[in-house]
Amino acid sequence: MQATSSEPNLSRAFELVMELMAISGKTGNEAEVADYIKNKLLKAGYSENQIYIDDTNQKTPTPSNTGNLILTLPGTHEGDRRLLSAHMDTVPICVGSQPELNGRIVHSTDPSTGLGADDRAGTAVLLNTALEIIENNLPHPPLTFCWFIQEETGMHGARLINIEDLSNPKLAFNWDGGSATKLSTGATGSYRIRAKIEGLASHAGGAPEKGVSAIAIAAHAIADLDKNGWHGKVIKGTSEGTSNVGFIEGGEATNVVTDLVHVRAEARSHDPEFRKEMLNQIEQAFLKAAEAVTNIDGAAGKVTFDNNLVYESFRLEDDDPSLMEVEKVIRGLGLEPERSIANGGLDANWLTAKGIPSVTMGCGQKDPHTVKETLNLDEFDNACRIGLLLATQVST
Ligand SMILES: [Zn+2]
Repeated sequence: MQATSSEPNLSRAFELVMELMAISGKTGNEAEVADYIKNKLLKAGYSENQIYIDDTNQKTPTPSNTGNLILTLPGTHEGDRRLLSAHMDTVPICVGSQPELNGRIVHSTDPSTGLGADDRAGTAVLLNTALEIIENNLPHPPLTFCWFIQEETGMHGARLINIEDLSNPKLAFNWDGGSATKLSTGATGSYRIRAKIEGLASHAGGAPEKGVSAIAIAAHAIADLDKNGWHGKVIKGTSEGTSNVGFIEGGEATNVVTDLVHVRAEARSHDPEFRKEMLNQIEQAFLKAAEAVTNIDGAAGKVTFDNNLVYESFRLEDDDPSLMEVEKVIRGLGLEPERSIANGGLDANWLTAKGIPSVTMGCGQKDPHTVKETLNLDEFDNACRIGLLLATQVST
């Protein structure tokens, strides 16, 4: 082994994360964050041709004002290329964040905003690592840094990236989460379900028996799912998942039998087969309900679905090389790594699906997506240490 880097400049890393969290950049508006990163890289001495902003933002369902930002470095030594990634966007509640330090915890002084540590903390870990390398002339294997757009709305930046733009990394590390030593080695997959329920309109006072209520159909279906254990936490034998009807809309007036209702739901499970089964059960419940609710002439309503796989689940091998490398680095710092499976989607879901198995680590986020969000600096500092070691370990 070659000697590795020393302690990163943590006060600089702190400045970076404070400035990054203060930038408004919800999903779709990541350009200012990308500019900030790019300017820091150029100022430190990286060249324009090492930095690339791709056109993934033109392929996403809704556009972003920038693409993914990629920094590609040849190694100072031979070795397998390593990918370091994080996402630039935040959820909308973080717009207007005013980061303030209190002890070792950062929060937003505006009580109506989230902080944006998810995932500007990860963004800062990558940026600090890249700056350390060039400022201190550190030896390193070939490296790709990627700052993704549009993670929060469905991992579109990672899903739609042209994978060749990452230059074929063999090891991959992603920062997005809380504890720096907690390693997500898998994550759940999710379906999004949209049901359009069509009934028959009729005057609710004059001839309700001629109508078919789309609201009644929805009510039957949801009650059926709930009663039979297919709504909420779903456990069937050894299979597990979660489902939720999270949106329902329809109706215009109390004197009309409602003829149109839109329902949106989701089904998640680590097990792709069981996830499909949950999807099937949800569809069947709505179809059965549509048959059951009829008018006086025996006419029924109908339900149509528009379902899609939001992200596929993944599970790293127990001896996955990226995982082994992270664990070695964490133990080298005198800390104990912990493996876990995430219940939400991560950019790693799509990276892994595209043939780049990726470990996700925390970087100090707490209570993301809420106004209570904070950043824990002890965890953030450890993430910066781990990031620098992962980027500069050179096996000979
Ligand atoms: Zn995140």
